[in-house]
Amino acid sequence: MVDAAFAPFAELLPPQTEEAVPFWEGLAAGELRLQYCKTSDTYQHPPESFCYFCGSTDLEWRVRDGGGEVYSFIVVHQPYHVAFRDRLPYVVATVQLDDGPRLLGAIFDIDPASVEIGMRVKPRIESVSEDGAAALFFQPA
Ligand SMILES: [Zn+2]
Repeated sequence: MVDAAFAPFAELLPPQTEEAVPFWEGLAAGELRLQYCKTSDTYQHPPESFCYFCGSTDLEWRVRDGGGEVYSFIVVHQPYHVAFRDRLPYVVATVQLDDGPRLLGAIFDIDPASVEIGMRVKPRIESVSEDGAAALFFQPA
């Protein structure tokens, strides 16, 4: 079941690369999956066919809670897409995950004036289309 407020985000999903299919399948299942390197014990994002840190191809996917903190953010006041029209102003943050990678995502349903660097956040995964596609956002933890 897709919340009508999130359906407009379906057309904003990026083209899927082969390496990223497990990431998007994870979101569709309501999970945040990160690529993990068994050689260097590191997580990475975006997904790749090798480890950014050590070059190993001994990678696997792990379900993670996605907890982290706001590393940086902006407050958007312009409706660049209809999906955001009723959400102005909203926050787009770079989130430093506890697992290492930094992910970019919007934080909705929060007063932008209350967002601070270092604020704890967690993933908010929303279905955006009836075919199962989902998008990643963040929310206060
Ligand atoms: Zn590695």
